[in-house]
Amino acid sequence: MPLLEVHRVSKSFEGFRALNDVSLTVEEGTLYALIGPNGAGKTTLFNLITGRYTLDAGRVLFAGQDISHTPTHRIIHHGIGVSFQRAIPFSSMTVLENVTLAVLALDRKTRDFARSLLSYGDAAKRAEEIISWVGLTDLKRQVAASLSQGDLKRVDIALALASKPRLLLLDEPLAGLSRTERAQMVGFIRELLRSLGTTLLFTEHDTEAVLKLAERIMVLHRGSVLAEGTPDEIRSHPQVQEAFLGREA
Ligand code: ADP
Ligand code: MG
Repeated sequence: MPLLEVHRVSKSFEGFRALNDVSLTVEEGTLYALIGPNGAGKTTLFNLITGRYTLDAGRVLFAGQDISHTPTHRIIHHGIGVSFQRAIPFSSMTVLENVTLAVLALDRKTRDFARSLLSYGDAAKRAEEIISWVGLTDLKRQVAASLSQGDLKRVDIALALASKPRLLLLDEPLAGLSRTERAQMVGFIRELLRSLGTTLLFTEHDTEAVLKLAERIMVLHRGSVLAEGTPDEIRSHPQVQEAFLGREA
């Protein structure tokens, strides 16, 4: 059974079709990239998966369960962790404080069935473990405002991992990073998710970085699926070359 199945979803905004009959299947353990030019519908698809937008048509299954109408605040309980490009931590607090707050917030939301209200100390212990996953242990006492863009991205990923998700959704995890930072981040994400066994669905418009990180790729263009396949298949796809590289098909 695939971990995530998006089945023929569509979404319009005041008559404008942002997504048109899009299907996507992500197998557990895969690093899956969603690419396409600005306005292709990548973030909209994330918003549909995570319940921020309601579907006009189609459905979304997670581990075989229909989550099409599950509100955003419940998505996390199904095992989906989300990080959005504009999610900025509290800049005057330390890395440890930021992640501890995320763990506490999560515990408060889950208490009705987990029935454990964590103390700050217990939450901080969990936060330290998550911080070690993302390699920020040495910086845990630094205030977020003093971190580099690359380290801030790691904090952002740590916040998304606070729920120990089976599926992590990252919207443009490489945005705003320098060339060197991008290369480091690609290696970091690959190693991290492999060691945690977490499945990844991410968006990116730097095709070069995507071809290095992703195991499968879907190309969206003006709200529709242009191509789907392995990095090699995508690289040699004539319509993808035409749309991205300006070549004649
Ligand atoms: P991408 O993430 O691929 O750059 P988006 O999914 O953000 O693209 O946007 C796809 C299209 O849908 C764009 O034309 C955008 O303006 C439109 N869109 C997205 N969200 C909304 C919204 N909440 N209201 C109106 N239009 C939207
Ligand atoms: Mg976007």
